[in-house]
Formats: sequence, C-alpha cells, structure tokens
Amino acid sequence: ERAAHPDSVAVIGLGRFGGSLALELEAQGTEVLGIDNNEDIVQSYNGRLAHVVRADSTKEEVLRQLSVHEFDRAVVGIGSDLEASILTTSRLLTFKHPQIWAKAISEPHAEILEQLGVQHVIRPEHDMGRRVAHLVRGSILDYVEFEDDFVMVRTQPPADARDRPLGVLGLRDKYGITIVAVKRPGGTWQHTTAQTVLYDDDQIIVQGTKNLAERFSSRP
Ligand code: ADP
Repeated sequence: ERAAHPDSVAVIGLGRFGGSLALELEAQGTEVLGIDNNEDIVQSYNGRLAHVVRADSTKEEVLRQLSVHEFDRAVVGIGSDLEASILTTSRLLTFKHPQIWAKAISEPHAEILEQLGVQHVIRPEHDMGRRVAHLVRGSILDYVEFEDDFVMVRTQPPADARDRPLGVLGLRDKYGITIVAVKRPGGTWQHTTAQTVLYDDDQIIVQGTKNLAERFSSRP
C-alpha cells in the first residue's frame, strides 16, 4: 500500500543537517514538509522551502494534524536534544507510514534508535569522520562506503596496475578488486575495458570489499 503522498518527505528538525537535507530534497523535486519548533529557524526557511511549519514534533496530535502519517518517508534531524529525538521517533513509529530515517549524534543514541525499530539510523559526523580519515591518509582521493562492507575508492593506479592492459594484469584474481573507470589528466571519466592501459598520472575508481580495496589503493 502506498502512502497518500508518494515521493514526499517530512523533515523534522531543520538544523544544519535537516535543513540542508530538506533543501536538497526539494531541489530534486520531492515534496517536503519542514517542521521545527524554533521560530527563527522556521522564519529562515520561509520562501526557501514550500512548506515549513513551526511545531513541536514530540506531540503525537501535532504530527497527526500535520498529516505526517500520510507521508512516504520522515527524517528526524533532531540531534542534540536526545529526549526530543526519541519522543519524536517513537511517535512516528506508531504510524503505518512513513519509512523513518533518524539522525544519531552518538553511539548510545544510535543504539536506542535501532532498538526502537528505526529502519535507517544515520550518523553523519561519525560517517564523515571515517570518510575524511581516508582522504587525510592521502592515498585515497575519494571514498564511498556501501553496506555489506563494499566500497568505491578514487585513487591513482599503483605500480602493478600500470603500463599493461587490464585484461593482461588479472587484478581481480590477484587483489580481489575491480577497476571500473579511469580519468586521464584533463579528460573525463571513462569505463575501463580489458584493453585499457593505466599510467602514473591517471585517476581510477576501484570497487571491492573495504579491506581489499583499501589495501590495493595504499600500494605504491
Ligand atoms: P544540527 O547539528 O544538524 O544543527 P541539531 O540537533 O542542533 O542538529 O538541530 C535540531 C533542530 O531540531 C533544531 O533546529 C531544533 O530547533 C529542532 N528541534 C528540537 N526539538 C524539536 C521539537 N521537539 N520539535 C521540532 N523541532 C525540534
């Protein structure tokens, strides 16, 4: 059964996280209802979000009045007020819709949200910190981690991946990774083929499990 408003998202808590999430969703064409109990915040989104209201999301009747239960998805962006985050989330969980995404600002916070039954617990600072660690180490230029331990890494080709066609090098057998794309200096991203030859100053995208892709990308 579909929600009454498909492709609609209620964003509760328009702080730095919820605010930019709401703006980005709306820019992509999703119907967004922004909710925050702080008048100044609500004012600042007036004219930038089509629907933004001042309301206390910890109250179930308030959420019902705003028809949050008819939305496809809801994002709880409240972080620092733990009580408000937990109360809001548990109210939402009593509705059949929506799918819930909730932000956690600490490990215990994340555990509680998971115990409540939230389908998607997001930990922006934790995740960003881990991501940036790879960039700071230097060998990795960009890093995306998916669930099930799978990553995509932007890096430069290590010596054993250079100067001979990928089809000949057998990197997947040797290192358990796949090089899916290459960008030459000044060029654009291209899919690799068995004939592709990589050079020193190329950038590549490596796919694989976290361990194998990181190990491969850290090779000189
Ligand atoms: P960020 O770090 O992303 O800025 P915060 O946790 O600081 O996140 O911001 C949370 C936002 O949620 C704030 O704008 C705050 O006004 C709002 N908020 C907090 N409690 C409630 C509540 N009970 N109902 C609605 N909005 C709330």
